[in-house]
Amino acid sequence: MPIYEYACGACGHELEELQKMSDAPLTTCPACGKEELQKLISAAGFRLKGSGWYETDFKTKKAETPKKSSDTPCATGACSACVTD
Ligand SMILES: [Zn+2]
Repeated sequence: MPIYEYACGACGHELEELQKMSDAPLTTCPACGKEELQKLISAAGFRLKGSGWYETDFKTKKAETPKKSSDTPCATGACSACVTD
């Protein structure tokens, strides 16, 4: 059963009332007797905590270093390895 908060618009009296959802809201202020009670909407229980989005999936970049199995040029002078050397 939710607790509703009321505040009187005439005298400023505040009260909490345990009511059912189907109950009619209070209107009469018990302090001054005027029908100036207004239901306060409290935001309690409606707490959205914004948790940041953290990217944990770090992909370590594999620097692909091509290994030359044989560093010896073909010795013909015609291939690209021989020319650039
Ligand atoms: Zn009042």
